[in-house]
Amino acid sequence: MSDEKHRPATKLVEAGRRKEWTQGIVNPAVWRASTHLFDSCAHLKEASKNPNAGLYYGRRGAPTQWSLAEALTELEPGAAGTVLYPSGTAAIAQSLLALLHSGDKLLMVDSCYEPTRVFCATFLKRLGVETIYYDPLACADEVATLITPQTKALFLESPGSLTFEVQDVPGLAAMARAKGITSLIDNTWATPLLFPALAHVDISILAATKYVVGHSDVMIGSATARAGVFERIRTTAQRLGNCLSPDDAYLAARGLRTMGVRLKQHEAGGLAVARWLAERPEVGRVLHPAFPDCAGHELWQRDFLGSSGLFAFELKTPDAEARARLIDALSLFGIGFSWGGFESLALPIDPQSIRAHAKWPTGALVRLHIGIEDSDDLIADLDQAFAKL
Ligand SMILES: *Cc1c(COP(=O)(O)O)cnc(C)c1O
Repeated sequence: MSDEKHRPATKLVEAGRRKEWTQGIVNPAVWRASTHLFDSCAHLKEASKNPNAGLYYGRRGAPTQWSLAEALTELEPGAAGTVLYPSGTAAIAQSLLALLHSGDKLLMVDSCYEPTRVFCATFLKRLGVETIYYDPLACADEVATLITPQTKALFLESPGSLTFEVQDVPGLAAMARAKGITSLIDNTWATPLLFPALAHVDISILAATKYVVGHSDVMIGSATARAGVFERIRTTAQRLGNCLSPDDAYLAARGLRTMGVRLKQHEAGGLAVARWLAERPEVGRVLHPAFPDCAGHELWQRDFLGSSGLFAFELKTPDAEARARLIDALSLFGIGFSWGGFESLALPIDPQSIRAHAKWPTGALVRLHIGIEDSDDLIADLDQAFAKL
């Protein structure tokens, strides 16, 4: 178990490794279980008083899942606990369901991950919850003007999906708290290592599928929350029958141990590739929070402890076929969804069509995830691909 005063790199190693869960080996075992057995009827009766306190029933997890949840909680000072989900999308959907009732309004950042938007437009709408989109660059005072007595939650994602605008998370979260509104953030890009979000917001959500797992082989989500809110999201998850397989929890915990060193390599490679792209005559803006071209760059400098490996760039040409030729010519970059694994990825993106506040670049956009390969090899691969543009 790690200590509050330990630094994040040490917490990544120590957190969640209680002796009672590891039995003295380094990693907790994979506890596969539906039924947990009680010693007697009296034991059953006692356990029923607080089913979250220990072994009770498989849906509530066992030491493999508890260890991962505790480790994620320890990375966010101020957290009361973490709920694990079978995907990042499930974490977002269930957190919103825990907070919102018919007649409520949700303030959602316009640069959110697309399935988040789809959930609001379908499920939440059907439940009678209205979603109001706000500009990711809006300051707290501007967002405050959208609040009505029905507004119950403020959702942030910073940097935004695809377009990477950095939000004023401290300002927006403080405003929400002053108005009695629960704040949630999708913190997948930064993880708690680059932005300890719970210092500001009430719920910090990760698509752990990405950097926590780190090896492109498991889907998992997490929501880490402050006291009061944590109990609400846990109860909702239990009522919805949410659970996570111990094998997936084991792999995610294994990935978590090396997340810090991997992120350093993603950051260095990402910056090297982005700097090279910024010099190319074919390239317009580089949408990387560490670059002045990126909206909210100063907020990133103020609030974040570094950058990860995901960013986008704009080609000067709007020609989607030229963009496809460039991407198809790459050999070290896979074409595919998700990111955060050890391997590099390239994806054509067209965020214009899914935004309400449209101030996006006009050239063709490419999103890159820089893996942990040698960045000189990635740059050489991009160089030969640009020749085919
Ligand atoms: C991938 C992603 C998600 C969803 O996670 P899944 O595990 O794929 O469901 C949510 N938010 C962001 C920012 C993502 O990139």
